[in-house]
Amino acid sequence: MGHELSAVVLEADSASGLVAGDGVYVMPYLSCGKCVACRQGKTNCCVNIKVLGVHQDGAMTKYLSVPSQFVHKAEGVTLDQAAMLEFLAIGAHAVRRADVRQGQRVLVVGAGPIGMAAMIFASLRGRRVVYLDTRADRLSFCTSHLTIETAVVVGPDDAARLASLTDNEFFDVVFDATGNIDAMNRGFGFIAHGGKSSALQN
Ligand SMILES: [Zn+2]
Repeated sequence: MGHELSAVVLEADSASGLVAGDGVYVMPYLSCGKCVACRQGKTNCCVNIKVLGVHQDGAMTKYLSVPSQFVHKAEGVTLDQAAMLEFLAIGAHAVRRADVRQGQRVLVVGAGPIGMAAMIFASLRGRRVVYLDTRADRLSFCTSHLTIETAVVVGPDDAARLASLTDNEFFDVVFDATGNIDAMNRGFGFIAHGGKSSALQN
């Protein structure tokens, strides 16, 4: 709870570069900076990680005190937009790591916020994105609010539909944004020969 957050600074130490009244977003993954993962720059894999709203109380509170290295000025975005940076960043990072390229076909499994972020950033690279979810309401939200045309509802004929959308070749890149082990295992079956998959972790 309170895992995606923006805020207004009330008080900050002078070394932080922040002043009272600054609009900010807060990185909710409080990493230790010392462990084996942190030393390699993979702070999201920190072995001592404390996640706001998961391991400790999040932003469902009036005041929150966090180390200043996790607080960033929300410049050029509103506070509502800043609160969405966390899940959008996960999608952006995944698309960058997957090295999605021109002409590739992309499948996003799971049309929650992180799946939507992956769709947004994959389609910004001009890729053809298809998404798959169990919930028709989520799929229709994506088709009406994002510039993504092709949705497939999970069901007995979903694999046949995905095959027909790709000339029976399936996808160059598959993103799993469900966290569900069965969905992840199934996703491997939708990868074209020579393609790759990526499981997204919130
Ligand atoms: Zn660490």
